[in-house]
Amino acid sequence: MREYFPTIYRNRSLADKLGKDIAQNTLSHAYIIEGPPGSGKKTFATQIAAALLCQNRYNEKRPLPCMVCERCRKATEGTSPDLIRIRREDNRATIGVDAIRYIRQDLYLSSNESDNKIYIIEEAHLMTPQAQNAFLKALEEPPFFVLFLLLSESGENLLDTVKSRAPTLYTERLRPDEIADYLLTHHKQAKKLKTTSPAAFDAVLTAAGGTIGNALNLLLSTRSKPAFTARTQADEILNKFFSRGSRSDFFVSFLSIVQKRKELSEVLSLIYLGLRDILVIKKFEDAELCFFTDRELLIEKTIQITTAVALRLSDATADAISALAKSANINTLMLNYANRCYKILTGRKA
Ligand SMILES: [Zn+2]
Repeated sequence: MREYFPTIYRNRSLADKLGKDIAQNTLSHAYIIEGPPGSGKKTFATQIAAALLCQNRYNEKRPLPCMVCERCRKATEGTSPDLIRIRREDNRATIGVDAIRYIRQDLYLSSNESDNKIYIIEEAHLMTPQAQNAFLKALEEPPFFVLFLLLSESGENLLDTVKSRAPTLYTERLRPDEIADYLLTHHKQAKKLKTTSPAAFDAVLTAAGGTIGNALNLLLSTRSKPAFTARTQADEILNKFFSRGSRSDFFVSFLSIVQKRKELSEVLSLIYLGLRDILVIKKFEDAELCFFTDRELLIEKTIQITTAVALRLSDATADAISALAKSANINTLMLNYANRCYKILTGRKA
């Protein structure tokens, strides 16, 4: 049998399903690909595009996409004229009507090199309602050679009218051992961390919340310590664990954390790594640190927090990470998380 999407490492069941649809010519004209940041949405969409553009599409002896023909190469390099990517502009928080207007003008022009034309809308959940309404017209009756792929972190922000016209494919969360496999095969830094500090490596796997994208960010943050906001915010919360201040101060810190799912997931993962540092340094003062940079200061601070409390805070953080992954409402989630941490710190029963 012909092999479909041979380079897709994860999301195998999705790949098999779509392979079958391509073989039987039963592809829908639009799909929503939904999943957390770093779960392989872009890779997957690019591979679908390559499969439709591939010069060996009808050559049963080759896998699809073949990944060696010129059109496959152009699709993955981002230079294919028949693969159009719509992205949010750098200085804007949403994808507005103007981007959609561009699609509607371009839509009916025939493809350049192949029989198909693919539009990938990245961060489709950031389309304004007006943009989505404008897009509906294109979605309703696209030319036969067009495929739309809408990448989305959460279906919450997409209009029902859009969702009803594009089946949703969900990317999968990975188990920690699968993430470990991937990291160890693809990144030297991971091998190094696993050898020098197996516990830190395990902490990265747990804090990643099932996505390779998160795991990579964390892996990098164990090496370089740039002053970016996720770190600063995680630092602020961790400081609250050492000296919680007034109840309202405590809650304000939690609730003023970023409201974006992707960034919040990064902050929570860093808090988890910080708590891991606190736990290991209580046992071994020379243990390798993942989050904190000032060892002396950390040793001094950890006196204020018992191992039992740090463990329970760590559990609370892990639970918040997985609740976020299940698309819980962000405000409720942070409120529950703050409440639980506060109870742990004040010694009340959670
Ligand atoms: Zn090809």
